[in-house]
Amino acid sequence: MELNSVTLKGRANVAKLTIGGIVALGVVYKMKSGGKASQKAGPFPNIKSTHSLVAKHVTADKWAKLGGITTKTSGFTLAKAIACAVDFDDQHCGIYAGDADSYEDFKTVFEPIILEYHGLKADFKHASDMDVTKIKGNINPYAPVKSTRIRVGRSINGFGLSPGITKEQRLGVETLMKSAFAKLSADLKGNYYPLQGMQESVRQKLVDDHFLFVSGDKNLISAGMEREWPEGRGIFHNEAKSFLVWVNEEDQLRIISMEKGGDVKGVFERLARGINAVGDSVKSESGKEFMLHPKYGYLHSCPTNLGTGMRASVHIDLPGWTKEGIDTLKKRCEALALQPRGTRGESGGQTGITYDISNKHRLGYSEIELVQTMIDGVNTLYKEDLELQKKHGLV
Ligand code: ADP
Ligand code: MG
Repeated sequence: MELNSVTLKGRANVAKLTIGGIVALGVVYKMKSGGKASQKAGPFPNIKSTHSLVAKHVTADKWAKLGGITTKTSGFTLAKAIACAVDFDDQHCGIYAGDADSYEDFKTVFEPIILEYHGLKADFKHASDMDVTKIKGNINPYAPVKSTRIRVGRSINGFGLSPGITKEQRLGVETLMKSAFAKLSADLKGNYYPLQGMQESVRQKLVDDHFLFVSGDKNLISAGMEREWPEGRGIFHNEAKSFLVWVNEEDQLRIISMEKGGDVKGVFERLARGINAVGDSVKSESGKEFMLHPKYGYLHSCPTNLGTGMRASVHIDLPGWTKEGIDTLKKRCEALALQPRGTRGESGGQTGITYDISNKHRLGYSEIELVQTMIDGVNTLYKEDLELQKKHGLV
């Protein structure tokens, strides 16, 4: 945040020197295409995450071309996009988009990062498939799976993405969603609960029960996603709390289907139906559609979520793998195209022998391929865990 204001000041000084006293400081040159505004780039930033994709792909040459650009939708800049790679030394990726324009205006930075992160070739194209009938099998009913959750991110055309979204746009998304939620019916029917004014005990219970997001993630803060917190944020859920939508967290929308047990197919079926219902309702209320890029699929604020934006996870007990050690489990998950997390969320940490196991990929595979990978991989981990339990004398 500090960097951004320093950079802006630096840029203003450059403008002053270049244009002299003739034009006011705020004046920008209109570019011919896309409606973005441009002035001269400020000084090249000091990128603390020296091993990040940002450090590799934000070169001095690109900075000179892109560093002075301000996007049309939310007034986003490359400096704002890479703030967490500049602020911290531990980023792998290190970049966020502040609106759909960011992916175009800063394409020479985003595209190579997207290709490298997702391991894709330049001519790839995302294809979506949510046909639940194509999924084979399900989680082994004997596996100690406590719960299943599948989420996708969705963004609505015309509004900025969380890192760049203006206060007015954020409230616009919330207002639109309130009326869109009111149209949901049958098992998807529910209520919207804004974070602002929510009773603390109610909020804490929703967090403890794994339904609600929390504030305080340093990356999200650095990327500008907690500006004006908690205004405009909230959660919708049906009565059974099996269908939920987060509003204005890391993405404008996180659409979630979850329940106890390991019926991944059932959870996916409700998710697919829920996404369609929310999309139809948004469209009939506003005429707007979800942001769908011809190549990158569904647009998200974080390029690591592009494509499906889908994370299908189970909470599962793995006592044998716990004895082997978390690093060995991580390696095994990597080989199975899975990702282990702690059960208190990405930044919440690990408890006991229970893990959050989910698909690792988001882009370059369809939704059903990713769900299939998760089902097959979790069944494999469970089978191996039984062997490891024997090896370590647990049974
Ligand atoms: P994401 O950002 O992918 O939605 P996080 O790792 O931030 O997920 O976790 C968000 C919340 O969802 C946390 O409270 C986490 O415990 C919960 N969660 C994730 N997977 C499951 C699951 N399979 N069952 C129950 N809760 C889950
Ligand atoms: Mg998260």
